[in-house]
Amino acid sequence: MSSVSSIQIPSRLPLLLTHEGVLLPGSTMRTSVDSARNLQLVRSRLLKGTSLQSTILGVIPNTPDPASDAQDLPPLHRIGTAALAVQVVGSNWPKPHYTLLITGLCRFQIVQVLKEKPYPVAEVEQLDRLEEFPNTCKTREELGELSEQFYKYAVQVCFPYQTRIHPCCSHPILSSTLCLTSSLCSLVEMLDMSVPAVAKLRRLLDSLPREALPDILTSIIRTSNKEKLQILDAVSLEERFKMTIPLLVRQIEGLKLLQKTRKHKQDDDKRVIAIRPIRRITHIPGALEDEDEDEDHDDIVMLEKKIRTSSMPEQAHKVCVKEIKRLKKMPQSMPEYALTRNYLELMVELPWNKSTTDRLDIRAARILLDNDHYAMEKLKKRVLEYLAVRQLKNNLKGPILCFVGPPGVGKTSVGRSVAKTLGREFHRIALGGVCDQSDIRGHRRTYVGSMPGRIINGLKTVGVNNPVFLLDEVDKLGKSLQGDPAAALLEVLDPEQNHNFTDHYLNVAFDLSQVLFIATANTTATIPPALLDRMEIIQVPGYTQEEKIEIAHRHLIPKQLEQHGLTPQQIQIPQVTTLDIITRYTREAGVRSLDRKFGAICRAVAVKVAEGQHKEAKLDHSDVAEGEGCKEHILEDAKPESINDTTDLALPPEMPILIDFHALKDILGPPMYEMEVSERLSQPGVAIGLAWTPLGGEIMFVEASRMDGEGQLTLTGQLGDVMKESAHLAISWLRSNAKKYHLTNASGSFDLLDNTDIHLHFPAGAVTKDGPSAGVTIVTCLASLFSGRLVRSDVAMTGEITLRGLVLPVGGIKDKVLAAHRAGLKQVIIPQRNEKDLEEIPGNVRQDLSFVTASCLDEVLNAAFDGGFVVKTRPGLLNSKL
Ligand code: ADP
Repeated sequence: MSSVSSIQIPSRLPLLLTHEGVLLPGSTMRTSVDSARNLQLVRSRLLKGTSLQSTILGVIPNTPDPASDAQDLPPLHRIGTAALAVQVVGSNWPKPHYTLLITGLCRFQIVQVLKEKPYPVAEVEQLDRLEEFPNTCKTREELGELSEQFYKYAVQVCFPYQTRIHPCCSHPILSSTLCLTSSLCSLVEMLDMSVPAVAKLRRLLDSLPREALPDILTSIIRTSNKEKLQILDAVSLEERFKMTIPLLVRQIEGLKLLQKTRKHKQDDDKRVIAIRPIRRITHIPGALEDEDEDEDHDDIVMLEKKIRTSSMPEQAHKVCVKEIKRLKKMPQSMPEYALTRNYLELMVELPWNKSTTDRLDIRAARILLDNDHYAMEKLKKRVLEYLAVRQLKNNLKGPILCFVGPPGVGKTSVGRSVAKTLGREFHRIALGGVCDQSDIRGHRRTYVGSMPGRIINGLKTVGVNNPVFLLDEVDKLGKSLQGDPAAALLEVLDPEQNHNFTDHYLNVAFDLSQVLFIATANTTATIPPALLDRMEIIQVPGYTQEEKIEIAHRHLIPKQLEQHGLTPQQIQIPQVTTLDIITRYTREAGVRSLDRKFGAICRAVAVKVAEGQHKEAKLDHSDVAEGEGCKEHILEDAKPESINDTTDLALPPEMPILIDFHALKDILGPPMYEMEVSERLSQPGVAIGLAWTPLGGEIMFVEASRMDGEGQLTLTGQLGDVMKESAHLAISWLRSNAKKYHLTNASGSFDLLDNTDIHLHFPAGAVTKDGPSAGVTIVTCLASLFSGRLVRSDVAMTGEITLRGLVLPVGGIKDKVLAAHRAGLKQVIIPQRNEKDLEEIPGNVRQDLSFVTASCLDEVLNAAFDGGFVVKTRPGLLNSKL
């Protein structure tokens, strides 16, 4: 930077009036320009071709006076700073304005304003002429006194620079300059020299002419506009020095204070960090009077003790010892501290060697299973066998049991009973939707928020190493980029591997060989084959209506009553009502919905009972027990405002409250499933098939219609490929047998697809259907369509077909037959080779249904239509046959 004294400014300067700050010589300031006057100045002086550097502006600090007219030039401050605009940035938003970066050169004084508009121009006199300074200053003595003061002051404020100041203090200006420089140095010293900007600042200040320092420093340190204005007005260099020193001292004091507080804090922190490890290692009690600290310390000691006394295997013990050593040295504020501590706490909590003693008595087990579960004989038998083998062999190696069946058939609850019979802890691990292998095997401890997998977590929960783990819904395991959970599960279930199962979080082996695993699934189709291979599948089919009624009255209702605090003296649910709920309010293979319905009934009754206890029973209850009464009370529930209107509604109900058909309707709403079968079969082209789904057997309607067209077959209702093939097979077989059965299209032709399109629909389009077993139903449905005859409304069928008209066996016969029974159908057509499956059907169901076993489609059609699907033969032939 050039010396201030060498600058010669013009005698006329355009004036820029700033109201945001005070520009001092040697400093730089950014100022916003938006007044009309200043805008004009910028436009005509700075933006008109000439280079910015060549235009010197007179910057006058100006406090806007709201009273004065914006048009008039306000009274101007007498002294200003001549400046160069270094940068001009313009913008139109939100209103036209410029931002100027201006650098102050030297002071000037206004002699006379030459013109006011469009911007003021003044005749000026340059004030800073340093080479003339010694001439203008006061007598030597005075300055000597001043310099003495400065010197003292400098010693006080800037001790480190004392020796440098001392020899030069004879000259007042030099002395004050030095004093100022020293203060400045100590100021800069206080800042962190390792910050590049500070180092640069230091170098810059060293290189500046001393005379420029008061102005520059005033603009650098914290000063108000008023103080800056005072410095600007201090034309004498001596005065300027005098005025600047207090400002500088103030700044230094402020900084010192700040540093002191910071240092204090750091020291405190250091102390705490330093003390902690020492205390932990040396166990000096009371070294720090902090309760938390003490507690924490005690915890660590406890943890250490627990590790010492724990019965964990050697390898795990070694790891724990190592970790606790690390933990002791760690400051508590480290995130790893909590991680390590959690880890160690889990390690000592895990039941490495803790187990329950099995108490297995097969006879008792049989009784317990029978008591807890009605029906499901096959399952109970297999479970007892399994347990018996365990008892004899006394080891758990062997296949894992997997109960497969629809929801709500008691798979989980049998698992729980197994645990109960063995006297073991029970823990259910829901696998539905698990698609990350770390769910099973845990996250490595390096991850934030890492935790052990579900197996280790389960062990921690039950607190013993030989619980019964129910792996619920193994068929719903997912797969994702995070690895295949089935593979991890394989390791868990494999008796050859699971004695040293390593969870990623634990990172030491845990012996799972004492855990009894039982899996459940709705279907085997989606169980990963490798997993399926390790398991013994036990099918748990759905229940018949009769079984459901028994289960309801033996188990579900008593359980619900207990849960709702009701007694049989307060509520009565007759068997007919249960049957009603089963047939008209639920459609399921298991009993879960049924159970929920009983729950709803109990809740409604509980309200009645609770209400009744608060009311005075004094009126006639003659018909209250008749169901109608119950209905009224439940209606009352829905309309509480009516309670006070009619006195008899406010009556407490007669006990027990009988749940009849009306009460059901009030509590559960109108029936959800009405018998619609006969209604739907009132037209040709509809037949009932039987389907198997993971949720149990279901009846399935197949609908067909024909229209003019070009022989196209349209299939709708979410069908898989096999189902589509069955449809094509059925059509081909019917076309080839059209004459035989006298099937014609709309125009009477035996070519069924001639000018005809066929549309086959499988309702309930939200469910994907596939499999070959609908073959016979499609044939029957189309035969009905082309013959115009109605299919019997009480017949359901299942069976795969071949192109030649043979009927092949299919699976899931029991579930399907139960579904037909549930739907109230009377006859079921099954493939002949499935006849053996009928043995599984409970006797009462078999009694209610008649079965037709068919080996070819002729037999199916004959059974499906009333009076048989008679083969049309020519009269002559018929006669000769007769
Ligand atoms: P799943 O695991 O097959 O989905 P749950 O075991 O959860 O079914 O059974 C649902 C409810 O039905 C349970 O309250 C269970 O006690 C009851 N339950 C199911 N089957 C029977 C049965 N045969 N005897 C008694 N209660 C049963």
